This record gives sequence, structure tokens and C-alpha cells, in this order.
Amino acid sequence: MKITVLGAGLAGLSAAEELARRGHKVVVLEKESSHGGLASTIKRNGFYYDQGPHRFHTSNNLILDFVKGLPGIDLLELNRVSRIRLLDRYFKYPLAFSNVLSTMPLQWGLGIMLSFLKEKIRGLFIPREQESFEGWVLSRFGRGLYDLYLAPYNKKLWGIKPSQLSADWASQRISVPSLAGMIKETIIPSKETARSLVSTFHYPRGGIGEICSGLASGITEMGGSILYSTEPAGLEKTLKGWRIDLPEGHIMCDKVINTIPVNCYTELLGSILPEKVHRAASDLNFRALVFLAVLLKSDIEPSDHWIYTSEDRYLFNRLSISRNFDPDVPSQIVFECSCQEGDPVWNMSKEELLRTIIPGAEHLDLFSADKVLGADTSRQAHAYPIYDLTYAKKTSLVLDALEKIEDSVTCGRQGLFRYNNMDHSIEMGKYAALEVLGEASVKSHFNWDENTWVDG
Ligand SMILES: Cc1cc2nc3c(=O)[nH]c(=O)nc-3n(C[C@H](O)[C@H](O)[C@H](O)COP(=O)(O)OP(=O)(O)OC[C@H]3O[C@@H](n4cnc5c(N)ncnc54)[C@H](O)[C@@H]3O)c2cc1C
Repeated sequence: MKITVLGAGLAGLSAAEELARRGHKVVVLEKESSHGGLASTIKRNGFYYDQGPHRFHTSNNLILDFVKGLPGIDLLELNRVSRIRLLDRYFKYPLAFSNVLSTMPLQWGLGIMLSFLKEKIRGLFIPREQESFEGWVLSRFGRGLYDLYLAPYNKKLWGIKPSQLSADWASQRISVPSLAGMIKETIIPSKETARSLVSTFHYPRGGIGEICSGLASGITEMGGSILYSTEPAGLEKTLKGWRIDLPEGHIMCDKVINTIPVNCYTELLGSILPEKVHRAASDLNFRALVFLAVLLKSDIEPSDHWIYTSEDRYLFNRLSISRNFDPDVPSQIVFECSCQEGDPVWNMSKEELLRTIIPGAEHLDLFSADKVLGADTSRQAHAYPIYDLTYAKKTSLVLDALEKIEDSVTCGRQGLFRYNNMDHSIEMGKYAALEVLGEASVKSHFNWDENTWVDG
């Protein structure tokens, strides 16, 4: 069977690897000049950085063994260190009531606790709506913690008001202790890990991009091919199978696996899909990220893998320290700035970004301007699917329509418009391969409710 895979991120390459290993003819089309997608490591001019902190962890031992067995992979096992910087103090990540109370000035801590209790009493009489991030979070944590951290951080990350953000984002991401648990935790802090707090993780020596490099070499060794800098121009179903138009010429194949952003894929499908599906797909929005990697003359003190910065004084919403993931990489800090593709932050030059970020770095005692050896920027236009209040309806309309198109499967973070982790994309890719072979299905394999969605 001849199969074309759109996109050479983890999902696309995992699908192609599975198919190549089973002896099928597979071609991967990737618009960039290298593979990896969101899980890439940029290596140029002495820089060596991931696009945002990436830790690999999975509850599926088959996926872990698969990654360990990829060509060139040497997995380090690390203990996560990450904090939140707020009010010139460091707080544990994720935010825990006991830690907030012990780190804050007493009056702030008491204010947060009182607003939490007030919210619980209010909830007995006037329950809050549970559709928006705002309603969901306020009813569980009270206004104190919401106003202090959860609202500003999410406003900065998503660029929309928390009242316009779906509660799905909160329920996938934030673990909620019971009232009794919270009081107990405040009196006797436990060592137990919460859902969003996986404390050990794996990281491939040489950068997170090594996983995709391992997959890519496996594919080519087994006879598959990856066409880089190749963006398909259209897809058409003919009597002889799929015809995929390329900038130059076209290819034919029996089946298509999609892992590129779902709204780019629907555009390629053109009149195969009804107009209302196109309308819904074009209304699905992604949040973009601009990365600034700063190479330093000096060592970096904090041992954190990453630090969240919700306050507006920092242009960036998170920074990560590359050497704390892999001791062999240069002394380098990567700043992540969330934005919309084409907005002023997206369009900032490297020099402008550096100028804007340095005062924040100085304020955090990370480095001063004279310690900078150089900087590098990169961008991801489709970093996060934006879960606005209508995303679920629009996504299911689009995915239901795509499901009806025979000999094709859509999967991965972009293909499903689903906030996920690396292990999920790998597993989905493998199941997409099995689905085109008629042996399994992505949809019935994945129990989304049981999967925890914790990172990036
Ligand atoms: C900042 C950040 C931090 C993260 N941290 C973690 C973490 O710590 N742990 C974790 O498990 N996960 C993390 N993730 C999530 C993880 O990166 C993703 O789940 C995973 O990499 C998604 O892989 P994918 O193949 O599904 O999608 P992608 O990686 O987006 O792959 C899609 C591919 O399609 C290509 N493409 C797009 N359009 C076209 C087109 N028109 N034609 C051809 N090709 C096209 C893209 O270039 C890309 O290569 C993080 C994500 C972000 C953004």
C-alpha cells in the first residue's frame, strides 16, 4: 500500500515509522526544512535549544520502550524543578494553597483563604456557571488566587479573557484538591504528587528533537521517504486513489494520514467538504509562540528546568534553562512569548526582543546585558489550540466530517485540535497507521478522559 503522511512532527513520523516497518511505501510531506514540529531542537550558530521546555513522560511502557529503542536515543532521567515567579517571590509549581500561604505576607495569605471560604459558601446558594475557565476556577479556588495568578497567567498565555476561555482547558490542566485535603495539606504538607506534577521525566541527550531524528532515520533506513520544504497545494480523491498536488507535480497514493493543523488540512480538501465545515474550521484559532534563546558568558544559577512569569513586567510567560535538561548544552536561557501570528510580538526582531527581555532577566537576577554572547529567535504559529467557548462544537463538526472521508485519518495535536503531550502524539501516530491498515482506530483506542494532559 502507498501512504502519504502530512507533517513530520512526532505524530506524522510515528505513523510513517509504523508503516515503513510493516513494509508499506510511505512518503512524508513536511513544509519546513527539518522534522520535529513542536518537539524540535534548534541547532545553529552555537545555539542548541528546544522550543519551550519539553520533558518526556508516559504511563504507557510500550511507548517508553519504543522511544528508548529509537536509533541514537540516550534517555536521561531527571527530577523536575520548576517554579512560579510572582510578587518577587518564588512559588511551587503547580501552585499549592499551603505553599502560597507560607510564602505570602500573612495578610495576603489570609485574604486568599477567606475568599476561598467565601466562594464555597456562595456556591451553596448561587452556583457559578461551569462553561468558562473563569467560572470553573472561581468556584474551586475563590477570587484571591484567581486574581493573583490564574487569571493574569491565562490571559497572558491565551490573549483572551478567562471568561472567553473554555472550562475544558482548566479541567484538563488543573488538579483540584478537596476542601478537607486542602486544609490537611496546609497543616501538614505531603510529599505526594498531584496530577499535573509528574516529578520525574525523561529527556534525550542532545535535545528533544533527537526523538524525531531517531524516527526519521528509522523511516529512511526502512525505505520510506521524507520530502522537506514541501507543502501540498491540494488533495483530490480520484478513481485511482488520492492525488496530492505539490508545488511541482503531484503524487498518487492509496491512503492519507494528516497531522498538519486541521484548518490547513480542510483547506487542502477544498470542495470535498461542505461550506459549513470550512466555516467552522476557519474559526479554530491557534496561539503562537516566539522564542528567544540567549547564550551567556556566565553560568546560570537557578536549577529550575523552567519558571513561569505571569506578570506583565515580563514580555515572556515562561523561561527555561537548557543546561538543566542536558549538561552538555551551552549556557543558555530560552524565553517564550505568546502572541498571535502576525501581531507586534510575532513581528519583533531578535534585537527588539532582546532589548525588551533583558530588564526582566535582570529583575530576576538571571543575567545583565554585558553577559550576553548572542541571541537566536524562532517561531511556532500553531503552538496551542485555543479552547474558546465554542471550540468544542466547531471541532466536533469538523472532525465528524473528516471521519466520513474514506482512506484518510487525521490525528496528532494539530490534526485533532487537541492540547496533548508528546507520548500521545506518538501513540496516535501509531494508531493512525493501524487505522489505515484496517487494524484499529485512533478514536476508539484513545480514552481522552483517562489521559492526563499536563504539559506545554
Ligand atoms: C512550548 C511547548 C512546550 C511543550 N512541552 C511539552 C512537554 O514538556 N512534554 C510533552 O509531552 N509535550 C509537550 N508539548 C507538546 C508537544 O510538543 C506536542 O504534543 C507534540 O510535539 C505534537 O506533535 P504533533 O506531531 O502532533 O504536531 P506538530 O509537532 O505540530 O507537527 C506537525 C508538523 O506538520 C508540519 N506542517 C504544518 N503545516 C504543514 C503543511 N501545510 N504542509 C506540510 N507540513 C506541515 C509542521 O511543520 C510540523 O512539523 C509542548 C508543546 C509546546 C508548544
